[in-house]
Amino acid sequence: MTDATLPPPDPGERLPTDDAQAVLEAAAAAVDAVAERVDADMDPLDVPRRLLLVHAHPDDETIGTGATMAKYAAEHARVTLVTCTLGEEGEVVVPELEHLAAGAEDGLGQHRIGELAAAMEALRVSDHRFLGGPGRWRDSGMMGTPANERPDCFWQADLDEAVHELVRVVREVRPQVVVTYDANGGYGHPDHIQAHRVTVAAVEAAADPAYAPEAGEVWAVDKLYWTAVPRSVLQAGIDQLKQSGQTDFFGVDSAEDLPFGIPDDEVTTEVDARAHLDAKAAALRAHRTQIAVDGPFFALADNVGHKAFGVEHFVLARGPRGAGDGPLGRESDLFAGLDLDARGGAAPIG
Ligand SMILES: [Zn+2]
Repeated sequence: MTDATLPPPDPGERLPTDDAQAVLEAAAAAVDAVAERVDADMDPLDVPRRLLLVHAHPDDETIGTGATMAKYAAEHARVTLVTCTLGEEGEVVVPELEHLAAGAEDGLGQHRIGELAAAMEALRVSDHRFLGGPGRWRDSGMMGTPANERPDCFWQADLDEAVHELVRVVREVRPQVVVTYDANGGYGHPDHIQAHRVTVAAVEAAADPAYAPEAGEVWAVDKLYWTAVPRSVLQAGIDQLKQSGQTDFFGVDSAEDLPFGIPDDEVTTEVDARAHLDAKAAALRAHRTQIAVDGPFFALADNVGHKAFGVEHFVLARGPRGAGDGPLGRESDLFAGLDLDARGGAAPIG
């Protein structure tokens, strides 16, 4: 499957992997190596650093934050992923699995549960959950499509219920740092927007002693981040593709024309997780129905690719900004500026 058909509908879902055989083999080896390791199943509160990520669909976590997740997991932080839908409406890029699509057998969601599990194994993240349980809310499809109207979709979710479900997770896991999308959901997908709304409300509610005592002991998150793709990174990708003769980078010439670039001076945090690119590449491959391994982007992989995929960016929305380093003064650690010993460090709370 060549990928001349990079669809405008869901650009954020379609980052490149490298289809060079050597890279595929390395990624496969990384998966195998991970599978042989045993995750220590620790009580979350025994782990000093705890990171919770709320994503909309299986694969969003890997595309936007996979290297970061692998990095913190490797550093023995507690990494928890909450995924809000099964991604039932995703476009299937593998011809032999097209029968799973929503417009055919509608079996994609179940299939993607397995893809996500494999991706989490590659990232070595053992705590991944679906908000309200698998299938509680359905993928809403792209904005303006009939799927938005289905009563079971996340876009139509009862916000109180969704927030309550997430508060239970926040109060259980007690993360100092929470990551989700900005108010536009990064690029306007209804489920990403809804993930933002639910997360912001849940972080507030979790800290409110008056809110749902049965949902667990009050927990105040220290830092809340949005995922971000700096415009300069997008532009570098566009330029690189042009040089390599590709012209279909979402059909635009300039990063200014894309709906999901963040002005560079708004990006507060840059996590360099290039050491975990193998894990991210393996996780991308695990999302097989969604990400074409021979897409046009793989031309990037040897150049800006490593930086584009291994360095992930964030905007600090709430909480203390840690000391920056580097020319742009960005934080390099999501936990920067936190006094972890004073706030539920090694000692379990409660
Ligand atoms: Zn998504």
